Amino acid sequence: MSRDNAERHLTEANHSTDAADSPQVVNLTALAGDGIGPELVKSALTVMESACAIKGVELVLNEERGGAALYQETGAALLPGALDRLRRADGVLKGPVGLPEVRKPDGTEAGLLGGLLRIGLDTFANVRPIRLLPGVAAATRAEPGSIDYVIIRENTEGLYLSRGAGVRNYHAAVDQMLITRAGTERIARFAFEKATHRTGAPRDGVRRVTCVDKSNVLRSFALFREVFDEVAAEYPHIEADHIYADAAAHALVVEPDRFDVLVMENFLGDILSDLGAGTVGGLGMCPSGNIGIDAAYFEPIHGTAPTIAGRNLANPISQILSGAMLLQHCGQEGSARLITTAVERAFADGSIRVLPSGGPANGTEAVTEAVVERLTA
Ligand code: ATP
Repeated sequence: MSRDNAERHLTEANHSTDAADSPQVVNLTALAGDGIGPELVKSALTVMESACAIKGVELVLNEERGGAALYQETGAALLPGALDRLRRADGVLKGPVGLPEVRKPDGTEAGLLGGLLRIGLDTFANVRPIRLLPGVAAATRAEPGSIDYVIIRENTEGLYLSRGAGVRNYHAAVDQMLITRAGTERIARFAFEKATHRTGAPRDGVRRVTCVDKSNVLRSFALFREVFDEVAAEYPHIEADHIYADAAAHALVVEPDRFDVLVMENFLGDILSDLGAGTVGGLGMCPSGNIGIDAAYFEPIHGTAPTIAGRNLANPISQILSGAMLLQHCGQEGSARLITTAVERAFADGSIRVLPSGGPANGTEAVTEAVVERLTA
């Protein structure tokens, strides 16, 4: 990824601009992954290619392998040199990875890429927009427009830094959580930059960053909050808000319109974004971006759903919207907006309907076609 892209993202924090798209070539690397990954990535690429063609943008596609199937074959979840290749791409579109039966001797899943990519590429900010679109049936009562917030999940430390490093014997196991001043400072600043370019919370239009933690119980979270407050002082035009994580789980269900941007530690972000997904039509509705200085990759927030893989049952919207985030990150605002508008239209006119199971009523391919048909300049 070019440093220009990274700097723009970090300062504009994915903000939409009306400036002309530039440049007209995007070098995209696709990593299809496991389970439903390949069908989702295929769907998203179809949509992205159509949108880019309309806007006169050339999408140059490279492919990279990675995940649990590769681990089974080779004993490694990535091929040699993969991180360098991914770093060189303008953007990376990644499908979910992991297969429940592929395990390490310690019982954890093998072939997951979260640690390898997030730490390896230092993509420290995990941007997870949670938005209820008109026409989407949600599990909770909410009007379209009343749920529109972004979770900024710290991606490189927190509890998950302990993956593969905790202590374990027959009787006991321990994993430790690391919170650093530097890591918290950069993620808090990213969150405030993000809020600067948004229009505020649905309830009151106030630009607000909410720090989610358990600083009432753990010292690590107390440091997280302390550093958050220091960064907040640099942004007097944005409201700094605090909530404990357990209260946040409740509030995200009963008063989601209060939230604009939420920033939190890695493990909390993983859990609360799945909760948020439940309020906007399910996991298959939610895209994400993993953003660093030298690299960025975009993927659905969910896993590989192996039980429905290859059966035309998966909802590809999470992957399609991840593709739109990627294009926006690469400066292709016009192509990105074409895609998000087409998705919104397809839900609003009833051509896409998501079942309570999370799958689309007419299948993965029909969703792809419905979105492509609605890509109009
Ligand atoms: P991970 O921990 O990697 O996020 P997981 O084991 O929690 O994965 P998922 O694969 O995310 O589980 O799936 C959770 C549930 O959501 C499953 O019932 C799955 O079938 C469903 N699901 C996930 N993604 C989709 C999708 N895109 N379309 C339809 N159903 C989905």
